[in-house]
Amino acid sequence: MSRVVLVTGGNRGIGLATARAFAAGGDRVVIAHRGGSSIDDLTGVTCDVADTDSVNAAFDLVEKDFGPVEVAVSNAGITRDGLLLRMSDDDITDVLNTNLTGAFRLARRAAKSMVRQRKGRIIVISSVMAMRGQAGQTNYAASKAGLIGLARSLAREVGSRGITANVVAPGFVDTDMTEALSDEMKTRMLSEIPLGRTAHPDEIASVVAFLASDAASYITGALVPVDGGVGLGH
Ligand code: NDP
Repeated sequence: MSRVVLVTGGNRGIGLATARAFAAGGDRVVIAHRGGSSIDDLTGVTCDVADTDSVNAAFDLVEKDFGPVEVAVSNAGITRDGLLLRMSDDDITDVLNTNLTGAFRLARRAAKSMVRQRKGRIIVISSVMAMRGQAGQTNYAASKAGLIGLARSLAREVGSRGITANVVAPGFVDTDMTEALSDEMKTRMLSEIPLGRTAHPDEIASVVAFLASDAASYITGALVPVDGGVGLGH
């Protein structure tokens, strides 16, 4: 396989692990992030998912240099945690604009050329919090829940063109994002995970790679939890 794969937020955490998983499978991988730098054999491109022109420009550049993007992974995400009563408008709109509208921007631009190619895989990274909810994360959980509606509707729109759209919902993964949590929060979250441990980013990456593989050719509109069981029942 030597597909062109674009991963937003591919410079660290789950995104970097995902980019490496695709590269290990022989794909040509572009990591799209605000800094735009390359890492090892992963080509970097500047892309701010909060800005439509930036997303479109990144795709234009990648398509010019490498050809059409066959696999697009919407991974870039942020948190601005706090109780709703004290949450500012910026905390709400920034999180929605990056996590949810950012995925819309990516999916819309990616689908444009995938429809022409009559093939493609779009995978969005949601969160177990979309289904469970989490005190202090109304903005984040809402953004991640919105991704499910986006992917399922898109799956219906583009399925007949050979394009799949799926959602991966990680639980607690060891990255910069979770490193920022308080020790008390980490201990509480750990106690709720049936597998009794947090995830390594590679454990999310392998599922994303599977959803983009031939083995997953008949899976679309699916919500795949990769959460050690913490979302059981949701
Ligand atoms: P990190 O905080 O480690 O990395 C976030 C990534 O998103 C960085 O590469 C960052 O790039 C990028 N990013 C943020 N804002 C933008 C933007 N406007 N434009 C382009 N790139 C941007 O997070 P994780 O690896 O932990 O998370 C990756 C995804 O997985 C997120 O969507 C997150 O919500 C989700 N997730 C994470 C979980 C976890 O436990 N870690 C659990 C469930 C879901 P930059 O370096 O430029 O800031």
